[in-house]
Amino acid sequence: MLNEKTDIKSMTLSELEVFITEVLGEKKFRAKQIYEWMHVRLVDSFDEMTNLSKDLRKKLSERCVLTHLEIVEKYVSAIDGTAKYLFKLSDDRIIESVLMHYKHGNSVCISSQVGCRMGCRFCASTLGGLERQMLASEMLDEIYQIQKDSGERVSNVVVMGTGEPLDNYDALVRMIEILTHAPGLDISQRNVTVSTCGLVPKIYELADLKMQITLAISLHAVNDEKRRELMPIANTYSIEEILKACRYYYSQNNRRITFEYSLVKGVNDSREDAKALAALLEGMNCHINLIPVNPIEERDYRQTEADAVLKFKNMLEKYGRNVTIRREMGRDIQAACGQLRKKYMEQSVKREG
Ligand code: SAH
Repeated sequence: MLNEKTDIKSMTLSELEVFITEVLGEKKFRAKQIYEWMHVRLVDSFDEMTNLSKDLRKKLSERCVLTHLEIVEKYVSAIDGTAKYLFKLSDDRIIESVLMHYKHGNSVCISSQVGCRMGCRFCASTLGGLERQMLASEMLDEIYQIQKDSGERVSNVVVMGTGEPLDNYDALVRMIEILTHAPGLDISQRNVTVSTCGLVPKIYELADLKMQITLAISLHAVNDEKRRELMPIANTYSIEEILKACRYYYSQNNRRITFEYSLVKGVNDSREDAKALAALLEGMNCHINLIPVNPIEERDYRQTEADAVLKFKNMLEKYGRNVTIRREMGRDIQAACGQLRKKYMEQSVKREG
């Protein structure tokens, strides 16, 4: 525990009811009131819970913590209005989240861990390793603070920020439960996407929960050998095992799987790669999302050129696959993949040093 006080914002309503009645000795209806203050009105302090007595508010602040994040910096893209937030957690650690505006609504991309231990070669978020897990309440508050700050309703949540969500499985599931049920923001599970590098046993566990969320798999290569060069996790789970788990997920949830494929020049972007990718996903109800890799300073990976990306897409389509190219958003504010957080941390080391 970060704090000896109870993190009641990570509790489901039924857990909070037990806590309020059995631990605090209060009436059950108080739980619903407190829950609504936290997850509907999105307040940051017990003092704002004005329909509770002063005594109860005092008791709450002595025994519990109302987790909330603090905005330390915010950048808004002049190109497309994408907003990137750097948040401070209660132990002063920094995470980042992004708000993107689409025709279908506002989407927030959240982090699920402080740092990451998966070690994908092209990713900036993993360079410093895993600092710590995030709490369900902290993940929720990324969404809550952005909704409050922007004054716009968040309709979609993608767990594609820093961290491997299935490596923080219990907190992730808890977060989705609170996020997608009333009272709360009550976001449709169909509007929640969880992206994973492919932790196979956890994909099975998630499938068995039968939640209607979209599973996105970071594939990035068409055979294990190539995948191992880009993603250390490929030493643990093969592509075949991942695809088998995906078929199981589909059988349980009937949700089309997304495969993410970051195109790295000269590494995984040839005609043969496109052909092999199409063959690999033959017969699967899926969607392929091509992401031209965002180069990071520490590695010598380059982005596939735009016309080659199109060719790759056309090739996949020729074989009947469903493909989109990820629209790059907020390039002017380093909105991609952990770059901003990393830059901020480097600068604070300089500031302190
Ligand atoms: N750990 C999860 C989610 C976080 S990353 C996962 O692996 O899926 C979200 C997506 O961005 C993943 O597909 C990841 O591989 C990709 N990504 C990370 N860094 C990237 C970069 N520099 N360029 C392009 N895609 C990147």
